[in-house]
Amino acid sequence: MTERVLVLNAGSSSLKYRLLDGSTGAAEASGTVERIGEDSGILTHSVGGEEHAEERRIADFEDALRSALDAFDRHGPAIDTSQLAAVGHRVVHGGDLFSEPVVVDDRLLATVEDLVPLAPLHNPANLEGLRVARRLFPDVPQVAVFDTAFHQTMPEHAYTYAVPLAWREEHRIRRYGFHGTSYAFVSRRAAELLGRPVEDTNLVVLHLGNGASAAAVRGGRSVDTSMGLTPLEGLVMGTRSGDLDPAIHGHLHRELGWSLDEIDRALYRDSGLRGLSGVNDFRELTRRMAAGDEAARLAFDVYAYRVRKYVGAYYAALGELHAVVFTGGVGQHSAELRAAALDGLFRLGIVLDPDRNEAPATDARAVSADGSAVAVLVVPTDEEWEIARQALEVVRR
Ligand code: ADP
Repeated sequence: MTERVLVLNAGSSSLKYRLLDGSTGAAEASGTVERIGEDSGILTHSVGGEEHAEERRIADFEDALRSALDAFDRHGPAIDTSQLAAVGHRVVHGGDLFSEPVVVDDRLLATVEDLVPLAPLHNPANLEGLRVARRLFPDVPQVAVFDTAFHQTMPEHAYTYAVPLAWREEHRIRRYGFHGTSYAFVSRRAAELLGRPVEDTNLVVLHLGNGASAAAVRGGRSVDTSMGLTPLEGLVMGTRSGDLDPAIHGHLHRELGWSLDEIDRALYRDSGLRGLSGVNDFRELTRRMAAGDEAARLAFDVYAYRVRKYVGAYYAALGELHAVVFTGGVGQHSAELRAAALDGLFRLGIVLDPDRNEAPATDARAVSADGSAVAVLVVPTDEEWEIARQALEVVRR
């Protein structure tokens, strides 16, 4: 009998879902419900290469999940709960409490609630997703897969900020890191591609999507990552600044009289590529750059330079490096960014092959030159499949 897993990713006003075949990882159907709680919501259900869209008000998460289940009934495939081995949930912040996926029970919900101060934008939505799915699928195990879990292996010197003890002990201020599910998937796939055992593979992985981060991975375990307490630190992102002088908050507050919330919002939403060039979409950015837009050129250069600095830093952190791995929408698709970020690093043993780099392939592949001491790989990530895989592992234990 086919075992299936339903994967749910509940955001602040959206719900993404995918039904997967538990043995192959193939998507049987997927969809998104957007603008939950607004006057008019949109549900898009994709199955068998066809998209079914409908627009209507979607009051809350329960309404969103019920609408998704209704779309399964109408457009297929029908969800037979006896074939549903698990519902896998993406949960953004697990603090330092979870290094593994866990089956959801009342205690787990209370713990995720306790972690809300660490992720006020994400954890409340994730919690709502967990609660609603438990109500609608009372007989199916619900598994929480944390975005932070993969980075729990970071050594103390990498996750510790140089701040007073009370902040660290009482307020849990430290580096946690995100995109963990993607790193777990991509690291395993990269080792396969290199033909090396994961335990003996050192990687710098660059997850470059709307959010972007870098990780140093030694033997399949994270030893450092660029996002910190929150997903604001590190690389330049679509709308987030990434690294900046922490004194900028105080400076803006004193100079402009802005509140901390206003400053935070500006750093999350109006900064990054958007702040530099007016657009956050990387494709549009490169189009504008090709047309001679100076602001777009600067944004691209700042972005690429930041990636390059992290490659150097994490190479040093690892000591020995087998591959630099690009993933996420930008990492997978922008040959131009990969070339700019790694240009001239031959003394570090990193040499791209221009033809391989520019070939319009979409599968996992090497784009380094033969003889490059460090391989350069492009590995499409699949966070839903990784969540499903981890959820199945937990329920089969
Ligand atoms: P998310 O982080 O939301 O999952 P993705 O990983 O899909 O996002 O990445 C989205 C980014 O990838 C966008 O900036 C988009 O412009 C960029 N992107 C997608 N396709 C291409 C492409 N062919 N060339 C350059 N950038 C691309």
